[in-house]
Amino acid sequence: MAFSQDVVIKALKRADGRCECQSDTHEHRARCETRLEWWSRGRPAWSGSAWDGAWEAHPRISMNGGGADGLANCEILCWQCHVAAIVGLVYGAMADA
Ligand SMILES: [Zn+2]
Ligand SMILES: [Zn+2]
Repeated sequence: MAFSQDVVIKALKRADGRCECQSDTHEHRARCETRLEWWSRGRPAWSGSAWDGAWEAHPRISMNGGGADGLANCEILCWQCHVAAIVGLVYGAMADA
């Protein structure tokens, strides 16, 4: 799971600094739009409100599953959605087994 910094910056601009998640299995239903802080990538803040501004660049299709490392496959997710997506992938893998 590795996007180049160039791709991540473009994705973050496309996302307008907000979570792009539109998964209907998450609590937000419509687009999440949690506001993100550029410097909080991969670093959930434990002080203040939980997960404040933290995010990660998440592949829509996992690279192990043949996803590309380009902008089209790069989704900017807040930390909660990122974790939920990973858990979903794990559940999915278990369901496939
Ligand atoms: Zn989100
Ligand atoms: Zn979400």
